[in-house]
Amino acid sequence: MTAYKTFSETDVIQYVQELGYFKKSQDLHCVEMGDGNLNLVFRVSDAKNNSLIVKQALPYARCVGESWPLTLDRARIEAEVLLEHFKISPEYTVNIIHYDAALATIVMQDLNAFEIMRGELVAGKRFPHVGRQLGRHLAQTLFYTSDFYLSAKEKKRQVARFINPDLCQITEDLFFTDPYRENERNNIFQPTETLSLELRTDDNLLAEVAELKAKFLNNTQALLHGDMHSGSLFVDDKTMKVIDAEFGFYGPMGFDVGSPIGNYLLNYCGSAAKWDGKQKANHLSILKDITRDTWTVFAKEMTELMDDKTQDLALQSPTYQARFLRSVFLDTIGYAGCELIRRTVGLAHVSDLESIQETNARAVAEANAIALGKALINKRHSFVSIEDVLLEAEAIVGA
Ligand code: ADP
Ligand code: MG
Repeated sequence: MTAYKTFSETDVIQYVQELGYFKKSQDLHCVEMGDGNLNLVFRVSDAKNNSLIVKQALPYARCVGESWPLTLDRARIEAEVLLEHFKISPEYTVNIIHYDAALATIVMQDLNAFEIMRGELVAGKRFPHVGRQLGRHLAQTLFYTSDFYLSAKEKKRQVARFINPDLCQITEDLFFTDPYRENERNNIFQPTETLSLELRTDDNLLAEVAELKAKFLNNTQALLHGDMHSGSLFVDDKTMKVIDAEFGFYGPMGFDVGSPIGNYLLNYCGSAAKWDGKQKANHLSILKDITRDTWTVFAKEMTELMDDKTQDLALQSPTYQARFLRSVFLDTIGYAGCELIRRTVGLAHVSDLESIQETNARAVAEANAIALGKALINKRHSFVSIEDVLLEAEAIVGA
């Protein structure tokens, strides 16, 4: 077995040649292009532009350095979650070609014909198909990995296989704990300081966030992607592909549905503050459509799958299934709210807000993201449908 070492560009070229993906005689070009927080991402290509991506986990978090050690097992989790999801939803999942445990490397399809959705949304581009496709992908991947479909024993084997304590702890801290208290990891824009301090003394909010965290810690409903933000979605004008599942584990379905919705709404807050007139109205309207479609298509497909394909006799109860969907809705809205808050005052920010140059506009966007996040978390039990979320966004941010 090869011992782990951090790859250079030359190592990557040799590696893909040894694996037989390119001939040894071929002249290959390799660049490291990771813009993410944690890993190395290389693109290796030949003179005819045939290319592959090689992603390697480092024994620490790239954005912080060796003082933040991090398990290499995350490469296994990423590869195996994506392979499981690919079996269920191949159209919308990046194709993993090879995984190497010792080197913590993944070889995958190069999605160079696509763009990362976050940057495209920040630039005001439109992807009206993404909500429907993501809703479908989420329903399929979550249903077929859940107790509705798998036998209880198989499901437990899968839960054990995808135990991911190190990466889950990052989410547990950054999502649910740090933004609500003093912590040196928080990153607070000065004009947002007062609002961020208020979060720490809002007892009702703290109780609701505790409930969402407890569910994240305890509820092994389905094999989640675990980091389904708009930076993990590659899009073009027809379709989309999901990448980067190293935070995958068995958790509450609403976490995977709520994360992208929280990210559309972060873009909503940013776009409303930096644009006006028709440009603003059109973009906000598209974001509302994507949000609505993500939930409604997810809910419709999930309802049909539960109705047609549930194997467990007890879980075939239609009343139970309706209650289950309602609880996933409440979790979705709650986790979307947490995403709005943690991306504003926590460690990991998003360009949807941070790229706003004008201080006042950014301050307004951040204040709205916090207010909307709080409203979604606190008021979710009174929401009947996804329309209530959109009405809340319009009331707080504008339309
Ligand atoms: P990290 O886990 O470190 O956050 P990501 O998986 O998000 O890394 O990848 C970082 C960047 O590398 C992406 O934003 C994208 O630009 C590029 N990238 C990752 N996977 C692919 C791929 N399959 N095809 C093309 N580019 C990719
Ligand atoms: Mg990642």
